[in-house]
Amino acid sequence: MTGCFCYLTHIMSKRELERLSTLALRQRKAHLLRTLTLPPEAIHASFLERFLQCGKPNCHCRTGEKHGPFYYLSRCLPKRQMRSLLLKEPAQIAQGRQAVAAYQQLLERLDELSWINWELLRRGEPLPAA
Ligand SMILES: [Zn+2]
Repeated sequence: MTGCFCYLTHIMSKRELERLSTLALRQRKAHLLRTLTLPPEAIHASFLERFLQCGKPNCHCRTGEKHGPFYYLSRCLPKRQMRSLLLKEPAQIAQGRQAVAAYQQLLERLDELSWINWELLRRGEPLPAA
């Protein structure tokens, strides 16, 4: 990833945003709108690393070192359902990790936009203007 490590890349919390001037809020909003893009690889899931015991009664995993690590994606669904995807190849594991991070980052930035709009609305400012 190429990063612009300017202050604008830091995700601000609601409390931090509340302390900004309306002009600064509008500048952050404009920056977000300029730079917010849908990451094509995004996946909504948790990336999990697990060490497991197998079913063999005399296997070393019963008492000592467990098998693994295994990597997989997991997604909770309504009604206590769950979808899991075991990642086998190193390239698949790397992509899974990246895809989850990309989704998370998008969500955080979208949430910051939401809090900026919340704060602008609270101050009686018009929302559409960037
Ligand atoms: Zn075992």
